[in-house]
Amino acid sequence: MEKGKVKMYTCGPTVYDYAHIGNFRAFLFEDLLRRWLEYRGFQVTQIMNLTDVDDRTIAASKEQGIPLSEHTKQYIEAFFEDMDALNIQRASRYPRATEHIPEMVTLVRKLMEKGYGYRGEDGSIYFKISKFKDYGKLSKFKVQNLKAGARVKVDEYDKEQAQDFALWKAWDESDGNVYWETEAGKGRPGWHIECSAMSMKYLGETFDIHTGGVDNMFPHHENEIAQSEAATGKKFVNYWMHNEHLLVEGKRMGKRFGNYYTVQDLVKKLKHDPIAVRYLLLSTHYRQQFNFTFEGLEAAKNAVERLRNFMHRLLDANGRGCGDEIRQLVSGVEKRFGEAMDNDLNIPVALAALFDFLRDANSLIDAGRLSRKEAQEVHRLMTGFDHVLGVIGEAKKEEKLSKEAEALIQQREEDRKAKDWKKADDIRQQLRAMGIIIEDTAQGVRWRFEKN
Ligand SMILES: [Zn+2]
Repeated sequence: MEKGKVKMYTCGPTVYDYAHIGNFRAFLFEDLLRRWLEYRGFQVTQIMNLTDVDDRTIAASKEQGIPLSEHTKQYIEAFFEDMDALNIQRASRYPRATEHIPEMVTLVRKLMEKGYGYRGEDGSIYFKISKFKDYGKLSKFKVQNLKAGARVKVDEYDKEQAQDFALWKAWDESDGNVYWETEAGKGRPGWHIECSAMSMKYLGETFDIHTGGVDNMFPHHENEIAQSEAATGKKFVNYWMHNEHLLVEGKRMGKRFGNYYTVQDLVKKLKHDPIAVRYLLLSTHYRQQFNFTFEGLEAAKNAVERLRNFMHRLLDANGRGCGDEIRQLVSGVEKRFGEAMDNDLNIPVALAALFDFLRDANSLIDAGRLSRKEAQEVHRLMTGFDHVLGVIGEAKKEEKLSKEAEALIQQREEDRKAKDWKKADDIRQQLRAMGIIIEDTAQGVRWRFEKN
């Protein structure tokens, strides 16, 4: 809407349990989207909410016999720990539902004033979907054969049960001590109104992009649209982006199927590299079903290693130079990668272009044809791509000496023992040309990389 800026809202986690890898597939797709927009020069404001009060959080805290806020606190902490492990960049803000009750109540009042909200006999306030002509426009759902006045109070339900849904839920015993005393009555917000209130508070009544998992399209996003557009009379969101489901070894993931994984399961219990998990979950197009397999995770680990090794090779490269050839490869991969990502985040094609480039550039290094300066340019290119992918990290020069450099240092030590100062000095010059500085100290030989 505004030149150079993107405002996006992302349905965040419901913090009743550890988020599973299906949830993180969504968060990673959103991270990739945001990173790509930033790569293209947009200034992105991303809001991701934390659902810390809804049917599931209340049920889970009751089951464990601890207060709601204490229950959700542990999962909020775990969520951020997992986000960091997966190198997901922080959103601009993480508003919590429990901290935005007044905004939700205001929205409910507006809907009642406009005749979209009404109080049911149970004291809850419902949204009259028959009054909102566009109801179903996102999921292409036709409102037919609806029983007049049929209502649904639970947060989640199927299309077959499309009914007037709860904006504000009057307190009942199952809520225990979770309630707010407001002008809407004693109770708590419905899940859908939470996202309408928080997104519009931070991004305005109309914003650019709203994302989420495909499961959220109905009823959650459909209801968000109905509430928001009914209240403001304006278009709520310009672009909706939904990621498809995740399967595990070809089957639906579920605790009862024994194929349910959280990030902590993969990283802490099974000792997988979280960055390999990141790479794997990112590498399929977001609108395609993704089949998580441990074979795939192994392949992802290898892909990340190839990228990292390549970065190390670039730091060591010191060939004679190849001029135009590398320049053409660089502009070719920039074009292919960029066009693929611009085309609805077509990451499989972008990655294929990247690995083609790696193969070609590696051959140049093998042939001693990539000069130090050319390698630095390629390094910069790769660092740029990694702002998008987030899997390489900083390949520090200090991390590793090449085998060649190690052998030279070893040889030089032998020359020095043999008091062949001329040879030792030649090797020192040779290392210097590779960007390695040698110092002879009382404790023996020390080396460091020359600062660029
Ligand atoms: Zn939401």
